[in-house]
Amino acid sequence: MNDSKLWQADKRHWMHPWTHFDSFQEEGSLILSRARGNRLWDSSSKSYFDAVGGLWCTNIGLGREEMAETIAEQVRQLAYANPFVDMANEPAITLAAKLAKLAPGDINRVFFSCGGSTAVDTAFRLVHFYQNCRGKRDKKHIIARRGGYHGSTYAAMSITGKSGDKIPEFDYISDTIHHLSCPNFYRAPQGMDEQQFCDFLVEEFQQKVDELGADKIAAFFAEPILGSGGVIVPPADYNRRIWELCRANDILYVADEVVTAFGRVGHWFASEDMFGVQPDIITCAKGLTSGYLPLGATLFSDRIYEVISTGDSDRYFASGYTYSGHPVACAAALKNIEIIERENLLQRVVEVGAYFEERLQTLRDLPLVGDVRGKRFMMCVENVRNKATREVFPDSLNIGKWISDRAEERGLIVRPIVHLNVMSPPLTMDHEEVDFVVEKLGQAIEQTHRDLV
Ligand code: PLP
Repeated sequence: MNDSKLWQADKRHWMHPWTHFDSFQEEGSLILSRARGNRLWDSSSKSYFDAVGGLWCTNIGLGREEMAETIAEQVRQLAYANPFVDMANEPAITLAAKLAKLAPGDINRVFFSCGGSTAVDTAFRLVHFYQNCRGKRDKKHIIARRGGYHGSTYAAMSITGKSGDKIPEFDYISDTIHHLSCPNFYRAPQGMDEQQFCDFLVEEFQQKVDELGADKIAAFFAEPILGSGGVIVPPADYNRRIWELCRANDILYVADEVVTAFGRVGHWFASEDMFGVQPDIITCAKGLTSGYLPLGATLFSDRIYEVISTGDSDRYFASGYTYSGHPVACAAALKNIEIIERENLLQRVVEVGAYFEERLQTLRDLPLVGDVRGKRFMMCVENVRNKATREVFPDSLNIGKWISDRAEERGLIVRPIVHLNVMSPPLTMDHEEVDFVVEKLGQAIEQTHRDLV
């Protein structure tokens, strides 16, 4: 099909995730046709540096021959295997053991799903299953945060706290899911320093526990660094202090590491290595296969397994997917992890990430730029109408999209989220590519400012 036919068919037949009906009909889509490493090519052969890493996921970069070979070989060997009850396959077993080795603390159990949303959904179900097995049937409430993103199934979107995503045309679980303040220091109440803001957030959590009663709260769900809510690194000590409150109140701590795991911020998992937190449950996906194939995993502690697996010999975990532990996806994940280890990509993210942070901070001097924040290969620029008051543009202006369109013209892909531009490049990005990203993004912001005045 030529481009014009593809565009017509796209508009006519494919309802994309997060489709905005009107603008999609007007503007259509950017049709990508090829990728090598950190670069993408569209159907007219124009090339782009992909500073978004697909959708926070192409950690080792695309187009790797050995990934293609591994996947092809597994398809030849065993393209599918039933995972239910007592059926297994070698790639899934080996991957589960590998994840248990990489995960912190006593997290040694793995439940496979198809992506991040299903990993979170499984965590949600596991939390209730565990509390019910312990006889704590009143422990039903979930605490999460405004600004958190946890996926698109009914449960995961209910736990999500991004106001822009919770539109009134959809329904959500609302009676047992509670959202506390977003730990975004840039938007902290006026006059608070970072320590005071952290105290305020911890106090708010304690108040919610007092209000609901610890015996009614099942779990806390949180991304160690909020991703699509605006790349928000919480105040120092916030994650650890909330985790301690969870432990003190018998509340399960669920770390949603769908974005932060597998090297994005320089660690296999950010919870323990970056924040000193040992979660009870970790959800992951994305960088697990670097986007080569869909796969999600819910990792959980031996303590939870012990409780759910003993006591009633008739009990079984009545949850799972046709594609849980898919052998080809698991083989791809194993090869992906091997590449991250062999190429020492975690160390690379630490080194190049420091340079990326430093160079992006230079954009602060530009008009429109209110904040530049993030960690290593997970960064964001927040655009504002007034730098002094931090007033934002109306959402309808979609300032992030203005900027990303102008970046795209210059061969750079950055992701717009309302008034933000977020970046999560492949872990293989080098210093020269950092310079390219900062230069082109800076030009796009300046051009947008000129167009606006
Ligand atoms: N959790 C987090 C933190 C995410 O960022 C995402 C997706 O962006 C998800 C869960 C959902 O993952 P998926 O889109 O693979 O279902």
